[in-house]
Amino acid sequence: MTQQIQSGTGPAAIISDIHANLEALEAVLLDIQKHQCEKIVCLGDVVGYGPNPRECIARLRELSIPAIRGNHDAACSANAFPSSMNPVAGVAVVWTQSVLREEEKEWLRNLPLVLNEEDTTFVHASPRCPADWTYILRSRDADSAFGSFDGKFCFIGHTHQPVAWIRNEHQLANELFDRLVISETDRYLINVGSVGQPRDNDPRAAYVLFDRSKGIIELRRVPYDFRKTQEKILAAQLPRQLAERLEHGW
Ligand code: ZN
Repeated sequence: MTQQIQSGTGPAAIISDIHANLEALEAVLLDIQKHQCEKIVCLGDVVGYGPNPRECIARLRELSIPAIRGNHDAACSANAFPSSMNPVAGVAVVWTQSVLREEEKEWLRNLPLVLNEEDTTFVHASPRCPADWTYILRSRDADSAFGSFDGKFCFIGHTHQPVAWIRNEHQLANELFDRLVISETDRYLINVGSVGQPRDNDPRAAYVLFDRSKGIIELRRVPYDFRKTQEKILAAQLPRQLAERLEHGW
């Protein structure tokens, strides 16, 4: 059972794209703890790329964090070769498939594609055909996404680049944000960035605090010991680029 986000309570923490990076996940969980969050939601891609898929799954389960299925969760829990992924991602998927226990794959397979709570939708890539894993990078994609959820808020991940798409009856705008003040009349499509593999040239882990009672959506950036993650990636003989990119945030 998931708790409801209610007004008058603490913020919700929304995390995404952990990608088996345990150091980043632990750093984010500590930061979340400091903010007395009422709940945590994970938008998927718990695994893939990183060296600690089992540990990251275990941590989410231990904390009963509701999670959505991402494309890497789907690929890593299948027993087929990932045909639609780039070669580096594919190597990591095959490695992850070999490491995960059947019961963990089953948990990944059973994650829902979408979670709806009151006026808020949570999905990995896009509320429009979630299983197509569309990247919302252009206004056109954001526009059709806004037509695919009913409420005021939709939280997404997938691109690993935090951004706020804001829509009202006059316009659709996007902005990089640290802190958004929620307006009465706007609707929001918020990309919360990535915990375990940020791609906006900032290596710090990213996640969002959604404080409904204060009317604030805040992007948090949390430094973590990526050197340790890099060592583990190399020790697991995963592709070297997957280690290198963590220190640059791309
Ligand atoms: Zn991802």
